Amino acid sequence: MRPIQMVDTHSQYLAIKNEVDAAIHEVLDAAAYINGKAVQEFTRELGNYLNVKHTIPCANGTDALQIAMMALGLQPGDEVITPSFTYIATTEVVALLKLTPVFVEVDPKTFCINPASVRKAITPRTKAIVPVHLYGHAAPMEEIMAIAKEFGLFVIEDNAQAIGCDYTFSDGTKKKTGTIGTIGATSFYPSKNLGAYGDGGAIFTNDDSLAQQMKMIANHGQQKRYYHEVVGCNSRLDSIQAAVLNIKLKKLDQYNAARQAVAANYNKAFAGNPAITTPFVASYSTHVYHQYTLQLNGVDRDALVAYLAEQKIPSMIYYPVPGHRQDMFASFGLKEISMPVTDALTNSVISLPIHTEIDEEQLNFITTHVLNFINK
Ligand SMILES: *Cc1c(COP(=O)(O)O)cnc(C)c1O
Repeated sequence: MRPIQMVDTHSQYLAIKNEVDAAIHEVLDAAAYINGKAVQEFTRELGNYLNVKHTIPCANGTDALQIAMMALGLQPGDEVITPSFTYIATTEVVALLKLTPVFVEVDPKTFCINPASVRKAITPRTKAIVPVHLYGHAAPMEEIMAIAKEFGLFVIEDNAQAIGCDYTFSDGTKKKTGTIGTIGATSFYPSKNLGAYGDGGAIFTNDDSLAQQMKMIANHGQQKRYYHEVVGCNSRLDSIQAAVLNIKLKKLDQYNAARQAVAANYNKAFAGNPAITTPFVASYSTHVYHQYTLQLNGVDRDALVAYLAEQKIPSMIYYPVPGHRQDMFASFGLKEISMPVTDALTNSVISLPIHTEIDEEQLNFITTHVLNFINK
């Protein structure tokens, strides 16, 4: 059996090596390392895939969120509502921009932001909501957009884990996650569902003036070279990464389907086991399984992780410390606030290996050992 990895980017590369190597060499030969043809082509193709009016490539997903927040003209002290149960990048940029992060609960089934919790957190200083499509499942965007409209708030979707996920509204219309809010942000970090071979990110919007503003911010605040209108940053997707992403974007649906097949295999093996809650998929969302995350009920999680590690089965806890309890936010004095759902998830989730190259033998090995431990 091949060694089991959380993410196997190398095997995936080998399957497309000829195409990728040729595309990288094309960039090297053209010597247009920054904003070359591949960047323009990828930007266009990604916009077509997502069916969104403006796509702005940038250096990584954290920058994408930061540029989005800068473009909205938020002022120091403005409040931004985000789930506490997410990757740190979502909330770190809020504090970096001297905005105030307001942490709210997630739904215990979908792991995504809880609209009732959002509503309770709104104050006169609230300016934006940042729903996260965690693990590849959509946040409840229809409810979030209704709240945003009612209170005049911006919505920035953190789509770093859910590229390719479909959202179905109650009237039956479908949209890709990342294209529903005021702005969407994503990451092309190598392990993401659409991963480059280095860093990358992108921002999406259907708003013309916000698009212009974000393009300018990502490029040192200039539209005309050397005439800098606003304070911006330097955030570019390079041509080699774009060339890789061009190839992988064409396979994204196939890659997401491969992840769904892995999840179906796990679900089948764990079905009906009272100690395991398998991932929930809401009727409004597809699931692209950036992670396959179980909730354990009455299982010694540390011992399970150690047992799996002994069998050379990797597993991960995403995320062991919720945002509101991170030292980074100590000055906000939130460590002792009560977040029962978030705290319970922090203590009970475990993510198993999931990627496009995992095979039956590996999956059987993983499920057998998880069940051995749990049923012992
Ligand atoms: C990966 C990730 C980011 C940040 O992306 P980078 O490209 O690593 O900066 C932001 N939010 C979430 C939810 C992520 O998973």
